[in-house]
Amino acid sequence: MLIAGNWKMNGDISFANTLACEIARKGRDDRCEYLLCPPYTALASVAEAIRNSNISLGGQDCHTAPSGAHTGDISVDMLNDIGCTYIIVGHSERRSNHGETNEVVQIKARAAIAGGLQTIICVGENGLQRDTGEAFSVVSKQVEESLPDCATYSNTIIAYEPVWAIGTGRIPAVEQIAEMHMHIKTVLSKLIGDDSTKCGRILYGGSVNSENAVDILATQGVDGALVGGASLKADSFLAIGQSCPSHLL
Ligand code: PEP
Repeated sequence: MLIAGNWKMNGDISFANTLACEIARKGRDDRCEYLLCPPYTALASVAEAIRNSNISLGGQDCHTAPSGAHTGDISVDMLNDIGCTYIIVGHSERRSNHGETNEVVQIKARAAIAGGLQTIICVGENGLQRDTGEAFSVVSKQVEESLPDCATYSNTIIAYEPVWAIGTGRIPAVEQIAEMHMHIKTVLSKLIGDDSTKCGRILYGGSVNSENAVDILATQGVDGALVGGASLKADSFLAIGQSCPSHLL
């Protein structure tokens, strides 16, 4: 299981360093892989803090181009250079705050995969789409249009993040999570093909915390979590990791 912390635009270098050091120290023997995605200003300090640990480092976004006149952006090569092995693309906040379409997300994912990064592509319906019964068609379209042709089960992870659950404290019923994850697996098998030795990892994201993690992570089709708010405290983040089912040990 992968437990990924998306720190978003939070914390200064000192905060990031303290948090990463604590996670690296206490999360050593846990039953999952931890991934930290700090703000760009803290990548170097977190990379140093998790050196010699089994914790991975990731970027929260990237530009589609390898370099050039793109003020304020960051490239896959730069993320690689600083030690990232993962990246998040298509987060709903990028989609809504920066107008990122599936097409843009697909180009970013292609660049990230070409650069050797494990690529987490975020998808998820909003509240209205859930209420009007469109959740499955919205999510299929996002997966189909955001996944590049070079995606494989080894280089791509889908994060199912219902937008109405992000930062709200509301979560879908575990049956709804299971249904959507199975739906995404079916869409992936059509796009990537069936491979009996591998299947796509699908993370759930949206208000995961130390209390609800046991149930969410035990849900069929859930291969980990993408965590926002609860990843900003070492104890709550590590408690989520410790909630991974022990039969996966
Ligand atoms: C997120 O933004 O990816 C997220 C899951 O946030 P939170 O856990 O705070 O809902």
